[in-house]
Amino acid sequence: MADRRYDAVVVGGGPNGLAAAVTIARAGRSVVVLEEKDTVGGGARTREITLRGFWHDICSAVHPLGISSPAFRRWPLARYGLEWLHPEVQLAHPFDDSTAAELHIDIDATAARLGRDEGRYRALMAPLARDFDAIARDALGPILRPPRHPIALARFGAPALLPAATLAQLLFREREARALFTGMAGHAMVDLRSLQTASFGLMLGASGHARGWPVARGGSESIVRALAAYLRDLGGEIETCRPVRSLADLPPARATLFDVTPRQLIAIAGPELRGTYRKLLGRFRYGPGVFKVDYALAGPMPWTAEGCRRAGTVHLGGTMEEVVASEARTAAGSLAARPLVVVSQQTVADPARAPSGQHTLWAYCHVPHGSRTDATAAIEGQFDRFAPGWRDLVLQRATTDTAALEAYNANDVGGDISGGAPDGLQLLFRPVPKLHPYRTSIPDVYLCSSSTPPGGGVHGMCGYHAARDALAHSLGG
Ligand SMILES: Cc1cc2nc3c(=O)[nH]c(=O)nc-3n(C[C@H](O)[C@H](O)[C@H](O)COP(=O)(O)OP(=O)(O)OC[C@H]3O[C@@H](n4cnc5c(N)ncnc54)[C@H](O)[C@@H]3O)c2cc1C
Repeated sequence: MADRRYDAVVVGGGPNGLAAAVTIARAGRSVVVLEEKDTVGGGARTREITLRGFWHDICSAVHPLGISSPAFRRWPLARYGLEWLHPEVQLAHPFDDSTAAELHIDIDATAARLGRDEGRYRALMAPLARDFDAIARDALGPILRPPRHPIALARFGAPALLPAATLAQLLFREREARALFTGMAGHAMVDLRSLQTASFGLMLGASGHARGWPVARGGSESIVRALAAYLRDLGGEIETCRPVRSLADLPPARATLFDVTPRQLIAIAGPELRGTYRKLLGRFRYGPGVFKVDYALAGPMPWTAEGCRRAGTVHLGGTMEEVVASEARTAAGSLAARPLVVVSQQTVADPARAPSGQHTLWAYCHVPHGSRTDATAAIEGQFDRFAPGWRDLVLQRATTDTAALEAYNANDVGGDISGGAPDGLQLLFRPVPKLHPYRTSIPDVYLCSSSTPPGGGVHGMCGYHAARDALAHSLGG
């Protein structure tokens, strides 16, 4: 490789780096991906981290954004082994009385369990689900461009500006809809009393009704394996164990795209970055981290709410008031005693991830940025509350704190899994307010990670848009 000149070099083989490389290779340009670890994948790898035969998603597990990604949908990834598997219940949110709100792809089936909020929930979600493809094309892209579907986007956009807690309180009367909505909005990892947090509840709810919250057969790694295999078929190259620490480590190329966050770009290219851009990049804010626990279980979780047993994802947080309070507490810098715990039971939809009759369980809660607090007891306290007796099933457990997460993937700064706080101006203008957010101040050098629009999640759209910009601006269209 040393002598070869490429049209483009991509640094980092996460979902966005690979999506960027695929976009460039599809345009007939030569491209190489340099990944510092021994496999590509970033936040989408799957490993036997507890016992043999139990395949755990190290990072991402549930893919409402992956299945909705306009880029992934356009590419022939199924031919390369990507298959989405749906649980019967996409998401369940249990309460102390052994009932649960349930998100089904079918809006009526979801609304029917929401009591007096049945009509209001349907009125909120039905138009968003109907127009979801149009909304996704606009919402999963850079903000400073004319929307292709302004009416659909406005229908999404107006309520999306509100705090999630406010929208839930204004719109819904009952515990179920309020908790279901704020639980989804909790994926923002931001105080749910802040502006724009409703956008997460709306986007994740609408994607649930339009496409579901699936897992990838065999593990999230199947997504990046499919991207990598497609890239190679297009003539793209991948080199692993290739850390890039300075611009001097790069082979000659007409364009370079970095699947890293601003802090890393400053470390790699600092002296070359121009004054104002560098100053703004240095002000980029990282958000709270996560503390994660993976379990190998001898049997299915004994949830007291029946819907949870059939669900792919379970949100353990109790009522809206509890969810809002726990996220506010994390944002203020301490761990809630009863945090919102996001649980994935991949084996409900994909039983082959564990030996016959046994299960994997994936769970995390939000913790303050860089926190070294062990949140295992807080997470397990929520399991005791909603699935008493579960401890008898535990065969093995693996925990990951914010430092371990960052050591595993340098992009998870302080345990932040979103590539930077998705709030305030930074939700819309990432990494800095700029007409062309993917371009850095160095000519032909781009950022393509989740620190750029549209932000966190395994959807590849940051890479796709960055690559399109690089093709237009540096690679002759
Ligand atoms: C615990 C956890 C749970 C999550 N759950 C979900 C979920 O359920 N659903 C979902 O959609 N998303 C989830 N996410 C978020 C998702 O994984 C990320 O948003 C996504 O992976 C971002 O993709 P990316 O390509 O921007 O960066 P990453 O996936 O972080 O990839 C960056 C890559 O660049 C490499 N790299 C970094 N620096 C260098 C360097 N200097 N030289 C060479 N290579 C380098 C890294 O090794 C890595 O492979 C989760 C993340 C975590 C950590």
